[in-house]
Order: sequence, then C-alpha cells, then structure tokens
Amino acid sequence: MVKLCNRCQKEKAALKRPKTSEQLCKQCFYTALEDEVHETIVKNKLFKAGERIAVAASGGKDSTVLAHILTLLNARHSYGLDLFLLSIDEGITGYRDDSLETVKRNEQQYGIPLKILSYQELYGWTMDDIVRAIGHKNNCTFCGVFRRQALDRGAALLKADKMATGHNADDIAETVLLNILRGDVPRLGRCTNIITGEEGALPRVKPFKYTYEKEIVMYAFFKKLDYFSTECIYAPYAARGAAREFVKDLEQVRPRAICDLIKSAEQFRLDTKTGESLPVPGKCQRCGYISSQDVCKACILLEGLNKGMPTLGVSRTRTKKAPKPTKAVQPAAVNGLVQ
Ligand code: SF4
Ligand code: ZN
Repeated sequence: MVKLCNRCQKEKAALKRPKTSEQLCKQCFYTALEDEVHETIVKNKLFKAGERIAVAASGGKDSTVLAHILTLLNARHSYGLDLFLLSIDEGITGYRDDSLETVKRNEQQYGIPLKILSYQELYGWTMDDIVRAIGHKNNCTFCGVFRRQALDRGAALLKADKMATGHNADDIAETVLLNILRGDVPRLGRCTNIITGEEGALPRVKPFKYTYEKEIVMYAFFKKLDYFSTECIYAPYAARGAAREFVKDLEQVRPRAICDLIKSAEQFRLDTKTGESLPVPGKCQRCGYISSQDVCKACILLEGLNKGMPTLGVSRTRTKKAPKPTKAVQPAAVNGLVQ
C-alpha cells in the first residue's frame, strides 16, 4: 500500500524524518525544515534587517545547505540581509583544494560574493606543513585555533556584522559530551548558546542549532545541492570522532537523544562558587586580535611552530604569563589584517 505524506495527505511519502519520524513527501520535508530554521532565526533574534552576514563556507553539506536556506529565507521573509560566503584555505592537499572549488561554484549558484583567506597568507604555514612538523597528534588543535581566528579576520575585512556557521544539532551534542568528558564546566554551560561572541567584535550565530545532521544530508541530497562530501585526510586523528560515533549510536536507539543532550547542557549554569569564571575579552599584545590572555592562542601556537617547539601552547592549562614576543612569530600578512 502506498503511504501518503503525513502533512499534505496528497503526495507519496518519500522519506521518514529522522528527527520526528514523520513520513513526508519531498516538498513537505523541505517546507518543514526551512520553516523550523526560520522559526529558530526569528525566536532567537539571530539577525537584524540591514546586517552584513558572513556565511562560513567550507563546501561541505552543512555550510552549503546553510548558504542555500539563508538565501532562500532572506528572499522569502524579506530579512533584508546582505549575505556573503567566507572560506578558509587551511592548505590540506586533496581535501581543501577540492572543497574550495565547490564553494566557488556555490558563489555562482547562490549569487553571493565569496572571500577566501589562507593559513599560508595569515600564518606562513599550511596545515600540510604543520602536520609534517608536528605529526598527527594535536594537528586539529592548531587547525581549530587558526581557523577560528582566520574566519574572524576575514569577516572583519569584509565588514561583517555577524557570522553564521553551519553547526548542527549533532555537532552541538558532540561538544556537550566532549566538555563533560573534559570536566569543562564553563564551556559546557555555554557550548549550546545559539549566539556566541556578543562581547567581541563579531557575534557568531548557529541557525542549525536544532537541525539534525541526517536531515541536512537528506535535504542536500533531494535538492541535488552541489557540496563536497569527502572527509579531511587528517580527520581520523580528531578526538571528536569517538563522541560523534557515540551520539550516532544514541540517536539510533532514541532519535530525541540529540535534542535531549543539548537541553541537558542548557540546564547547566556557571556555578560561581567553583571559582570558574568566563574569560574577559581583551586584545592580544602581538596580533591585536581579541583574546582573554595577554597573547592569543594562535600567536602562542605560531611561536611554537616557528621556534621548532610545536608543543608550546598545546596544553589546555591556562598560562598566566605568556612568553615574550619574538620577531619570527609576527608574519607581515597578519599585521596587515589587524582590526
Ligand atoms: Fe582541520 Fe582537523 Fe578539521 Fe582536518 S579534521 S579540517 S585538520 S580541524
Ligand atoms: Zn595574537
């Protein structure tokens, strides 16, 4: 017997929604997902009319679907946003070079201007160089710290008011688990925030906070969106992999587990009695970029690389006194990009 779509009751159901188990036709699925993202944006006041929004674009499914849906909702609901794509070239041969080609096509497909910044021009190192120097251990620490700063620098160059990232519900649930495993209570309390960095120059927003990864993949697949699906060649070494597997297993047993993990972490509020406090944002003495320490993490990691001491700054312990600046750690390209 043909199953009809639970919503329109007219079309044949094409899929079962992983999040709600509803059986829907393709069109009703698109509408359901787009309406949920719109509701998240409106309820959480993620954007204001007239804002310039940098969409962090990697060419992967999340950011491609985000660029697609934001373009669509911006027109459908007259958000009045000025959207553009911002990509970072980490310098990972066989991965990022190919995915950037996808982003370049997305620029044409969505009619949104694209800006690409590279680790090479910002830091003088590609990720391939870094892995050659430090091996596979800790490479994602370097990559994560450098990417975060690179995105903020790119957004500042483009005079963006905010940055939208494709972090989905699964990503956030994984981060919740990782913070529990690390006993990082302050981060656990704030890793579910839908807007972060409001205290700094560039707030980041997550319109996909409640969107399941499987549904993003289905949406991209059914809509035949142009995205790049190969994993980073250094990904198997990422600690996040184990948490990812665990979240997928939980979802298998109980689809609501992802939302529940996010909800649980939302209940955590910073306990001031523990003595843990949120870092106060200031400016890095070397690069001028926002930092809660005298010298930002990117500059410390870079100093380690340039001095042939790559473990410098890799430890999670906060340093009170930062090492003295040396000439080698300040590439000219970074100076030119200080806000
Ligand atoms: Fe960078 Fe690690 Fe992600 Fe690869 S898996 S892009 S090295 S953070
Ligand atoms: Zn710095």
